[in-house]
Order: sequence, then C-alpha cells, then structure tokens
Amino acid sequence: MSKSFRVLCADCTRMLQVHREICGYCGCCVSVCPEGALELIDAYLEVGDSCTGCGICAKVCPLGALEVTDEVQV
Ligand code: SF4
Ligand code: SF4
Repeated sequence: MSKSFRVLCADCTRMLQVHREICGYCGCCVSVCPEGALELIDAYLEVGDSCTGCGICAKVCPLGALEVTDEVQV
C-alpha cells in the first residue's frame, strides 16, 4: 500500500492524503486546485508545497482517492 502525507503548515496538522492505490490518474483534481498544487507526472500525483488543505480536490475526485485529514497518520 502506498500513501502520501503532507503537513500543510507549522500551526496545524491538516494534510492532504493521497490514496495512490485508488487514484486512476484522471487529472480532475489537478484542474480544480486553486493553488496549482497538484501535478500528474506520468502515473504519479504530486502534491506541491502550495497546498492549503482546502479540500476542493477531494470533493471532485470521482474515485475518493483524496482526503484532507486533521491528524497526523502513520
Ligand atoms: S481526481 Fe482522483 S482519481 Fe483523478 S487524478 Fe485526482 S486523485 Fe487521481
Ligand atoms: S487541498 Fe486544495 S490546495 Fe491542496 S491540492 Fe487540493 S485543491 Fe489544491
């Protein structure tokens, strides 16, 4: 199983979790991100440092592969 976690700021623990085993690389999330934080590189969804954890991408993902969480998960 491969998952990616990112701490978004020093004062909070919000992070965008990418379930890479679910992602179908359709690119829908990339086009809606207001920060331009997402990029599809070949068959890998990269989350950039500009991500604010707004959750817009998670709402449009047709496969439920994106999730904003409030806690650090390991
Ligand atoms: S919208 Fe979902 S399935 Fe499509 S590339 Fe983004 S995370 Fe993957
Ligand atoms: S949570 Fe918001 S800022 Fe972060 S990648 Fe998704 S749409 Fe972009």
